[in-house]
Amino acid sequence: MGLVIAALAVNAQDKTAVKYANTITPEDMKSKLSILASDDFQGRETGTEGQKKASKFLEDFYQKIGLEGPVDGTYRQKFDMYQNDWSGVYIKAKGGKKMNGTDFIFMGNASMDKEMKLSTVFVGDASNLEGMDLEGKGVMTTTSSREVFAKLAETGAKAIFVVAANDEQFMQALPRQARFRMLSRLSYEKGVQGDESIIFNIPQSLAANLMNTSVDKLMAAASSPSSIKARNVSFKVEPKTKTISTENMVAFLEGTDLKDEILVISSHYDHIGMNEDGTVINNGADDDGSGTTGVMEIAEAFAQAAKEGNRPRRSILFLNVTGEEKGLLGSQYYSEHPLFPLENTVNDLNIDMIGRVDPEHEESGNRDYVYVIGSEKLSSHLKVISEYANITYTNIDLDYRYDDPNDRNRFYYRSDHYNFAKKGIPIIFYFNGTHADYHRPTDTVDKIAFDVMAKRAQLVFHTAWILANRDQRTPVDRTDDMDYTSRD
Ligand SMILES: [Zn+2]
Repeated sequence: MGLVIAALAVNAQDKTAVKYANTITPEDMKSKLSILASDDFQGRETGTEGQKKASKFLEDFYQKIGLEGPVDGTYRQKFDMYQNDWSGVYIKAKGGKKMNGTDFIFMGNASMDKEMKLSTVFVGDASNLEGMDLEGKGVMTTTSSREVFAKLAETGAKAIFVVAANDEQFMQALPRQARFRMLSRLSYEKGVQGDESIIFNIPQSLAANLMNTSVDKLMAAASSPSSIKARNVSFKVEPKTKTISTENMVAFLEGTDLKDEILVISSHYDHIGMNEDGTVINNGADDDGSGTTGVMEIAEAFAQAAKEGNRPRRSILFLNVTGEEKGLLGSQYYSEHPLFPLENTVNDLNIDMIGRVDPEHEESGNRDYVYVIGSEKLSSHLKVISEYANITYTNIDLDYRYDDPNDRNRFYYRSDHYNFAKKGIPIIFYFNGTHADYHRPTDTVDKIAFDVMAKRAQLVFHTAWILANRDQRTPVDRTDDMDYTSRD
């Protein structure tokens, strides 16, 4: 391998490729990223006004540089996602309705169109359930553990009320719990998915209210629960479903003699948005403003080349996906609703965070590096091409440490390229590593190393130039230990 690369390195540079790679400059990157990661874009959270501003910014740009909109002439691949809001869940108590997120926390998964009334049995610490008929009933316990939940589920209990060990701590933790629990993750499916489970975490005061006794009597009965009489408890669990409309941004450059084959160059343009009250903005300059800026610069270089008669042989799809921060949802959507056949999609070069120098490289003083991930997983050609591009043109350190299958970070599975890899498409993921500002309000433009970022983007450009122009597409001649090489 070393010899082959050394021999290749003697090869002359492709002057045409160099000309267009040189249009990718630190200055251009700074001017683009300063807009994308500005406060005005509010952290670009999926489905929000900030994300819409970012999509408009990309649309205007792709139009200006003359790329085609592949979705009926537009640059938007629109789709809807759904989110369940559980704030309407209530329990009826003496003195009125108690609300989820304010008075207790609902932990389960269910949807009922009518209020449910259950005879509810206090089982105390649940140490002795023998001989108890709990089938179809509500069960109130003072023990919160997986074993107890499993044991109670076996009895056929319909709902579980878990009594807090300490009311003061419970109420203190409640607002934070509510932030995590009130809204479900975004999903493509409308309504409630998966198995039904009805679990309420409630304070002692509410438990005593429901069982028509005092807190002291109830808690004293934890090990002798039969002294507390069963009571009817009514509640309703029905989420409100919100529709979140969002879009992947796509721009297309048609190739020449191999135009039916598509090379994808991707990034995610969404980020994690603002805090609750809008006072703190997570600008996401590195994550993934940097990758999106990289894709824009590479698109601009290819568009200019095409205008001047140097159109690539294969077609290129520039893809800025949404919903990465919500679980790679936009790239999943693309891979399940591809605009071009996946069997003709030859590679995905995915850029997620290329604007920073991580603490280790900062310390060693070696800033010219990038982590290259996944290049050997599905094709024996891709890493060689990437190495060739680097040795011939960019000469930065390509660090492969995250290809180690034992690496606990599992980055290969954690960005959008993975949805292409799953479909058997060889990918490369470019990444600068994590840092203290990752997913924090301090991931800002002033911390970006634009000189390094431009070199990394040039490496992606040169790799793309070769992949788009060589005779043979990279063969899928390797399989990973996991079976996601089968094409749908
Ligand atoms: Zn990211």
